[in-house]
Amino acid sequence: MDDTEQTAAHVKAAGSADFGSELHGTADRWSQGYGFETRAIHAGQDPDPTTGAVVVPIYQTSTYVQSEVGVHRGYEYSRSGNPTRTALETCLAALEGGRTGLAFASGLAAEDCLLRTMTGPGGHVVVPDDAYGGTYRLFAKVLQRWGVEHTPVALGDLAAVRAAMRPETSLIWCETPTNPLLGVADIAALATIAHDGGARLVVDNTFASPYLQQPLALGADVVVHSTTKYLGGHSDVVGGALVTSDVLLGEELAYHQNAMGGVSGAFDSWLVLRGAKTLGVRMDRHCTNAARVVDLLLAHPAVASVLYPGLPDHPGHEIAGRQMSQFGGMVSFRLAAGEAAALEVCRSTQVFTLGESLGGVESLIEHPGRMTHASVAGSQLEVPSDLVRLSVGIETVDDLLADLDRALAAAS
Ligand SMILES: *Cc1c(COP(=O)(O)O)cnc(C)c1O
Repeated sequence: MDDTEQTAAHVKAAGSADFGSELHGTADRWSQGYGFETRAIHAGQDPDPTTGAVVVPIYQTSTYVQSEVGVHRGYEYSRSGNPTRTALETCLAALEGGRTGLAFASGLAAEDCLLRTMTGPGGHVVVPDDAYGGTYRLFAKVLQRWGVEHTPVALGDLAAVRAAMRPETSLIWCETPTNPLLGVADIAALATIAHDGGARLVVDNTFASPYLQQPLALGADVVVHSTTKYLGGHSDVVGGALVTSDVLLGEELAYHQNAMGGVSGAFDSWLVLRGAKTLGVRMDRHCTNAARVVDLLLAHPAVASVLYPGLPDHPGHEIAGRQMSQFGGMVSFRLAAGEAAALEVCRSTQVFTLGESLGGVESLIEHPGRMTHASVAGSQLEVPSDLVRLSVGIETVDDLLADLDRALAAAS
């Protein structure tokens, strides 16, 4: 009997109505009644029952012994469940205030699993008009071909979101703050619109992280993460996650996670779990460093505008102040002298490393138009060519300021 049949037999034996009993993170004793940092360090991470190891071991195994046919200790095969992954999934659920957590090989693997669970041929989704490039590509190039329509809308315009809803709309996809334009969407208002239309609200919480923003508490149905970013936090792993407080939906997603197979490996799960322990202290420093960088950019003549939700003149400032505890570590800005100046700044920094991705301890700089968002060129989601995006790291802030000052002088 191969593992697929075994799982089918297991489902039957368990008498589960529709979905299997795949292992996944569910709330444990640390999930309630403890503060964020305590949950980050302990949820899913009780000392190993076999050895007493304080840190969850990397269970680098594909399969598990059975004492008799079909009799095992819960784990049968590591696509269906792995103890290191379960620890991470439990921790992620606790950090987002959800019931079910699922960890994937990448953020896009998580999104693909979610979308093919919650939409299907003939379906429709409402998406942000400045979604993460890879998310947009999934809608435009993959789901479109599979018969799922999407309507890009500026999520700040709630009347436009309402107008875009159709009877067959199964979800609204929200990203806030957005990448790379740092637009802010009202999660609670979007949840109301989605639910009024019989749809669900999905929030990509990658930019804020659960430390700054708790979408489930604001009415969202599912939270998506690229754990590659702030949750992992050290630019050494690619991963993704889904968290929901709807247990039935969680079962459905877990079934598809196992059926589709894009799971997080044991070592990758362990790296994200280790990163998550320090999320709170890292985010505090990302935020204070970013605020100092924003001040420098605002005062610099080479900079035409600064995009940061912490600025009082940012269109989403008031909403961000309501739904985020701080304004985050991502800052974008536009150069007065256009694309050439933007490229020059990206070439000139030495502490800010030129590279894609974000959310790590090191500062990164990039040109979205030619790098992360090249795939949306020519579409409604195209980004300005004079735009530069910073992921402000946790280095000594004076070094970051001096580095940007030098690079901006080179581009003036
Ligand atoms: C990086 C990112 C993703 C995709 O995640 P991967 O781990 O690269 O697959 C999705 N959403 C946002 C906001 C991101 O920054």
